[in-house]
Amino acid sequence: MIRIFIVFLVFVCSIVSAASAFVVEGPRTSTGNAIEDLKRASRWSMTDGSLLATGQRGLGGGLEYSVDKSICEIHFVDGATCADARSVIAAALERWSSGHPILKFTDVSDQITPSFPLAVIGETDQGAEIDFYAATALQFPNFRNAQMNGYTIFYDRPVGYVTLSNGMRSDWAKDRIESADIRVNRERCFYVDENFAKTKPGCVHFPTLIFHEIGHALGLGHPEEYPSKNIDNDDVPYNAVNVNCLAAVDSLKVSRNVAGSAVMVRRNVHSPGLWKRGLSHDDVAGRDALYPHCDITPLPRFEQLWGSFARSDDGSIGISRGADTARDAVSIAMSDCEATSISCQLYKPFNGCFAYAMAKEDVRNANSGFDRRYWGMASSQDPVAARVNAVAECNEKRGQTNVCRVHTQFCAFDE
Ligand SMILES: [Zn+2]
Repeated sequence: MIRIFIVFLVFVCSIVSAASAFVVEGPRTSTGNAIEDLKRASRWSMTDGSLLATGQRGLGGGLEYSVDKSICEIHFVDGATCADARSVIAAALERWSSGHPILKFTDVSDQITPSFPLAVIGETDQGAEIDFYAATALQFPNFRNAQMNGYTIFYDRPVGYVTLSNGMRSDWAKDRIESADIRVNRERCFYVDENFAKTKPGCVHFPTLIFHEIGHALGLGHPEEYPSKNIDNDDVPYNAVNVNCLAAVDSLKVSRNVAGSAVMVRRNVHSPGLWKRGLSHDDVAGRDALYPHCDITPLPRFEQLWGSFARSDDGSIGISRGADTARDAVSIAMSDCEATSISCQLYKPFNGCFAYAMAKEDVRNANSGFDRRYWGMASSQDPVAARVNAVAECNEKRGQTNVCRVHTQFCAFDE
């Protein structure tokens, strides 16, 4: 029996809750406790042989992946080729395996044809361990949702135990992932060249999408989806998570403190930001908790960036983002604002997202200007919370409900 676990990616506007360290997708039945769930989570198991050599599905021989020729039919607005798409996939996989002695990926596209297990009677042909496809809405009905960029499904088999990547046997984890299919929505347009982010804002940065989907194929979920399932080793977001290589769960706890910039957060795969920053400490912690090993090399990981904001009563604003220090963020935002005003005031520097709301002169008229006397500002890891809180503060100052609108919004880690 093969179980299907469905994970998908939805456009940024569906996000309402806070983001945090990392979450796992499994197990089949949640215990209600994130740490217990982590112990039991489905994952790829250690195997002696490989799929090609011995027919064994698991980490042995690397996770063997096959890129379907449909990937060549993706609409790339920047002229990226089939070969470019393949190198992007290889580079994204390489990032997930970087520093890890066991978790590796092997391209078997020439030897194994991708196959979708559900479509095959008898479940004998599952394709490679990870298959990459592009599909139309007709071929894959979930893509009728035009906002869905990619969709990853993994299949796990209940075998009673899992051999962890550190060689230890886990009798808590009972289900081994045997196959994963990563699909890209052919109804959408894509680009590889980061310079196309601004010229084609409706299209999707292919490397970022693939980078995110691979995390699902490894068994990771969206951190912001269920805040009560989020795992860290402390309550400090952004810092490195020290995962005990012999007993991962012993070093971890549930934490609701947030880091909205992880690759596994489904916030924004349209822009190249996640790709430019690379795996965060939280992404790597999720990987290392599912795939522990005592010889993992700690590599430089994306930690945090600072942003700031300044405003004046005469209507000037100053913005900074992507700064390495709080001090840099402050001075950039101030000089940006002071370019057009002498009375700029600063909002405190932040790592998350920010929103500036102002009252509308005439709220019934969509084209009316802003009434600069009434405003609110807020920052939060969750961009939605920042917007909601900024608007609420502004409405309160104005003494009315529903008169304020967001004027400016951005995240410190935005590109
Ligand atoms: Zn996703």
